[in-house]
Amino acid sequence: MKLVFLGPPGAGKGTQANLLSRECGIPHISTGDIFRENIKNNTELGKLAKSYTDRGLLCPDEVTNRMVEKRLKERDCEKGFILDGYPRTIPQAEFLYKIIKLDKVIDFSLPDDIIVERISGRRTCAACQTSYHIRYNKPKKADTCDKCQGKLVQREDERPEVIMKRIEVYNLQTSPLIDFYKKKGLLSSIDARQGIEDIWHSVKKELKI
Ligand code: ADP
Ligand code: ADP
Ligand code: ZN
Repeated sequence: MKLVFLGPPGAGKGTQANLLSRECGIPHISTGDIFRENIKNNTELGKLAKSYTDRGLLCPDEVTNRMVEKRLKERDCEKGFILDGYPRTIPQAEFLYKIIKLDKVIDFSLPDDIIVERISGRRTCAACQTSYHIRYNKPKKADTCDKCQGKLVQREDERPEVIMKRIEVYNLQTSPLIDFYKKKGLLSSIDARQGIEDIWHSVKKELKI
C-alpha cells in the first residue's frame, strides 16, 4: 500500500501512521522526523532546514522533493509506505505524482482550536520520535517514552506563535492538496476530532484491513 496522510499539524497523522506501520509492516516516512534528525546531527540539510522549521515555515520544495525521492528508493519501500507530512505544497504533490502511483490519500481534518490544544500538549520522544499527549495519550511514566525509555520533550516549533504560523501555512499552502487529490479520485476523509482508537478503526475501514 502506497499511502499519503494529509492534514494539519497535530491532526494525529503520526500517531495513526505509527499504528498502521506496525500493523502492515510498511515504513512510516515522516519528512518532519527526517528534517529533525538532520538538524540534530547538524548536517548541511539540517542547517538549511532549521531556519525554516524554527519559524514554522516550509522547507524549499526542491530540497524536500530530493530528500523524499531518495528515501522512497530504499528497499523497505518496495512493499509500500506511509508518507506523513509530505506532500505539503502543490509542486510537491505534482512531483510525487510523477514518480509514484499512490493507492490512497487519507485526509485527517481538524478545526483550528483543537489543533492548538493537540500541539501544545504534545510531547515527543527525543530518541525514537514517538509522540504522546499530556492529556490524551499519556506515557506510563511521566516524561518517559513507553517504547524506549527516552526522554519526552517539547519541540522547538511548539511555541504558541509558531503554532499559529504553522496553521496559517497549512491553510495557505497545504489545504489546496485536498482538492488536488479529490480530482485524482484518491482522497478519503476522516474526522480527526474523534479519539485515537476511533480514528484507528476508521483508518482500517478505509483501507479494508
Ligand atoms: P507536524 O507533525 O506537527 O505536522 P512535521 O513534523 O510534519 O509537523 O513538520 C515539522 C516541520 O518540518 C515543518 O513545519 C516544516 O518546516 C518541515 N517540513 C516537514 N515536512 C515538510 C514538507 N513536506 N515540505 C516542507 N517542509 C516540511
Ligand atoms: P501530527 O503527526 O498530525 O502532527 P500527532 O500524531 O503527533 O499529529 O498528534 C498530535 C498530538 O495529539 C500528540 O500529542 C498526540 O499524542 C495527540 N493525539 C493524536 N491523535 C489524537 C486524538 N485522536 N485525540 C487526542 N489526541 C490525539
Ligand atoms: Zn522513544
